[in-house]
Amino acid sequence: MHILFYNAKAYDKEFFTQANQHFQHDIRFVDAKLNIDTVDLINDEKAICLFVNECADREVMKRLSQVGVQLIALRCAGFNNVDIKAAHEFGITVVRVPAYSPYAVAEHTLGLMLSLNRKIHRAYNRVRDGNFALDGLLGFDFHGRTAGIIGTGRIGALVAKLLRGMGMKVVAYDPQHHPDSDALGIHYVSLADLFAQSDVISLHCPLTPDTHHMIGKQALQSMKQGAMLINTSRGALLDTQAVIHSLKSKHLGYLGLDVYEQESELFFEDFSCDIIQDDIFERLLTFPNVLITSHQGFFTKEALQNIADTTLNNIKQFEKLSIAQQPIELSNMVTVNA
Ligand code: NAD
Repeated sequence: MHILFYNAKAYDKEFFTQANQHFQHDIRFVDAKLNIDTVDLINDEKAICLFVNECADREVMKRLSQVGVQLIALRCAGFNNVDIKAAHEFGITVVRVPAYSPYAVAEHTLGLMLSLNRKIHRAYNRVRDGNFALDGLLGFDFHGRTAGIIGTGRIGALVAKLLRGMGMKVVAYDPQHHPDSDALGIHYVSLADLFAQSDVISLHCPLTPDTHHMIGKQALQSMKQGAMLINTSRGALLDTQAVIHSLKSKHLGYLGLDVYEQESELFFEDFSCDIIQDDIFERLLTFPNVLITSHQGFFTKEALQNIADTTLNNIKQFEKLSIAQQPIELSNMVTVNA
């Protein structure tokens, strides 16, 4: 099938070109992100491939259907950037990669927690600067502390397992309990109890209208003084202004982010020679107890191989069904009720 890859980075080209030796699709890469102005980059491609921060809203969806696009293949798990209802209305199928390496994100989450606690990011700079003093680098033992996991799906359950391995007590909140919660040592509590009990809180639920800004002023106030908050899920789970307020008042003790509400303006690009205009993001960077990475939780070799294989296979399955003029029913399809 002819596929246009939007927002393609060098690593996308490398992993997809390699995986495509098996699938033999006709693929073309462009640097541009998808938006209403870049729809015109499509030639005869019936499938386009997108990543997390591209805008596939109703207006774009309409234009895509006008130029003959039948399939949007997301090379990621989340689909909050795609108007699924509009896709359905305009006859465009959407597929995604629901799981590629939950280990990648879980391990990155643990990395943020450990770095923040033991201030490894600060120590790295100090030692390079010939400063071997320990003042300001004091951490705490994770062993014996309580971690609160919000969302115990694939990634959240793995984070719980890793934290249990360090001797932490794990409490969790999820409307759907994990089938192996007893074996994993996960104890479900209400959200209010999770906030009240946890020394470290980690977010692993999807961004939906229900979870938008779930960590706002009230949630932050009900957390323990000095708690650590980690978000490797989606930026808008946090009300960033409220988080800044809590950091300024020294209530929130640590913040680790791999995602940010307005990340589509910044992440995955090099702005090191520019003046960054996002004052909220810049304020976050001024706190010594904040550590931010730019949505790299997924970024391991294993995950990229898996993403490329699954995406190209999703497209192959779609192609087979459409050639056979059969109803499009695919296991990795995103439906309106998802
Ligand atoms: P998953 O679908 O396996 O698990 C999500 C869990 O959240 C489910 O158990 C669900 O019941 C639960 N949930 C839904 N609504 C909830 C709510 N209101 N409160 C608490 N829990 C709720 O998803 P996953 O594969 O574990 O991924 C989790 C999130 O991680 C994704 O939604 C995505 O946003 C993010 N993610 C980030 C990266 C990265 O690179 N940083 C990579 C992949 C995924």
